[in-house]
Amino acid sequence: MISTLASALEKFPSVALTRLPTPITRIERLEQACGAQSRGIRIFFKRDDIGDTGNGGNKLRKLEFLLGQAQAERADTVITVGGVQSNHARLTAAACAKLGFACELFLSDMVPIQSTEYREGGNVLLDRIFGATLTVVPSDRDVMTVANARAAELASTGRRVMVIPAGGSSPLGTLGYAKCAREILEFEAQNGIEFRHIVVPNGSHGTQAGLIAGLTFAGQRGERVKAYSVLAERDATHARTAALARSTLELLGGNPANVDEHADVLVDGGYRGVGYGIPTQAMADAVRLLARTEGILLDPVYSGKAFSGLLADIGSERIAAGSNVLFVATGGLPGLFAYRDMLAQSATAI
Ligand SMILES: *Cc1c(COP(=O)(O)O)cnc(C)c1O
Repeated sequence: MISTLASALEKFPSVALTRLPTPITRIERLEQACGAQSRGIRIFFKRDDIGDTGNGGNKLRKLEFLLGQAQAERADTVITVGGVQSNHARLTAAACAKLGFACELFLSDMVPIQSTEYREGGNVLLDRIFGATLTVVPSDRDVMTVANARAAELASTGRRVMVIPAGGSSPLGTLGYAKCAREILEFEAQNGIEFRHIVVPNGSHGTQAGLIAGLTFAGQRGERVKAYSVLAERDATHARTAALARSTLELLGGNPANVDEHADVLVDGGYRGVGYGIPTQAMADAVRLLARTEGILLDPVYSGKAFSGLLADIGSERIAAGSNVLFVATGGLPGLFAYRDMLAQSATAI
């Protein structure tokens, strides 16, 4: 079943942006520190935060398929959208630099943070270093509409443009996480282990939806994937993730009806805090705990919040004793610098 998934994925053009499979390692000092070990819970990290292009992150897997298609279509320019501190925008800028595409980023001013670190540091600085053109769009305008208008303008002058949606989460980009599911299944088969939970943050839904699509295509169930939503409300996230999992499964050649919206799509909305990109104390504590036990960095917008949810679920015994848990580390390190205020201030909280 894993080999059918592998051959279904090989039908799509792709480019290599990072070394795959990413490593999977156990984090025992963290297990000890958070009380997992005393209940026989083992925690593993899949290091999707390590990557060869643009400092790595989960968007590279999606860009491998999206920019493979852009090359097949002989595009010369790539346009994408995101928030001001978008990791997806930064990795698109880096991948475009590597592949020789011009890159234009339209960044929605959707997070009400005014510090210079937020507005010009972190990912924004890197976007500029990678040579992308940046336009910040006021939050009351739809950033995709602005991006599409720019694409039409460029096309009228003879340019060949690909527009990538937020987070790269079209069905084509989402194939990148069906491929990640394949890597996880291969790791399990090779190491004689089964992960009860595969834990991810959910922003634009492609990470969770791709894992669900890949597992379902391989004859397993999406309910193994547990997501913490950090962007939209829980119910909207749940519905959109189910729809994206189905359309990605269909693109792979599977039957979309095999994804059961209720049984297979697990989304917890309890750790987002007030809103997207607004830090929580639990996030800051989780970032520091992992940094100080394992020397591994999470990010403040996605993986830090998701990890704070996992720690709470371990603490409240919502994760069963004896479970093996795989946390997909999705990257986002530059975001830490954009949130210097928050992360430096509460430095003594743990
Ligand atoms: C985009 C992003 C996510 C969320 O992935 P989606 O596929 O958009 O749900 C998680 N972590 C980081 C660091 C990201 O940049």
